[in-house]
Amino acid sequence: MTDEVTFVEGPASNWIVLTGSDGVDLIDAGYPDDAPLVVESLAAVGAALGDLRRIWVTHAHTDHIGGIPELLRGAPQAVVLTGRADVEPTRGIGREQVTVAKLGARLLRPLWFRWALSAARAGGLRDIAVPTARALTAADVAGSALEPIEVPGHTDGSTAFVLDHGAVVATGDVIVTHHPTLPRRQPPRPQAIDAVFSHDPGLARDASLTLLGSTATVVLPGHGPAMARTLQGWELLEG
Ligand SMILES: [Zn+2]
Repeated sequence: MTDEVTFVEGPASNWIVLTGSDGVDLIDAGYPDDAPLVVESLAAVGAALGDLRRIWVTHAHTDHIGGIPELLRGAPQAVVLTGRADVEPTRGIGREQVTVAKLGARLLRPLWFRWALSAARAGGLRDIAVPTARALTAADVAGSALEPIEVPGHTDGSTAFVLDHGAVVATGDVIVTHHPTLPRRQPPRPQAIDAVFSHDPGLARDASLTLLGSTATVVLPGHGPAMARTLQGWELLEG
């Protein structure tokens, strides 16, 4: 059972620590070079790698699964769970990730170029393979405090996780509130990620509308700050 949800806004992508009475779970694990920061965020809730039970994956992109191989070296007991269609990409087979060719002329824009550079520096171009990853099952979910929702589009196996009895949703990249490729001055708001990052942009957009239409009043996105729905609209969630 989850007692506490700790949202961590990493340098370029986010992860979530779920603290329970018998250990901790993670949702996502950042870029490869974020692994030490993930360990720090476990320490911040009084946990160590030995306490890590499960890593739930929102989708098999390097900025969300990149930290997993290093974490597993210190936490070989941890189970890595993904949506069915993202199992093979998480294992390193056939990832649906944006390529330099697909980004094309966008890379000539300073914001995009800077993002690509920082992504590469954080290990974004490294081949990530988590051979032990497997599809999450009803039995896994039964022992947890989250409810997965299949939200294909960004990747075929994209999964959102509902927490806190429906009040909170961890959206992965189906909904982001900001992104390094957006101007910094642009106020954060829940939105679909730029279509270029999605395997099937049409489906990804539908999925983002589905999540925005859900009962959740708190969005914990894959990129950008956490936000809460208020009578005045979406506002930053105070930490
Ligand atoms: Zn991402």
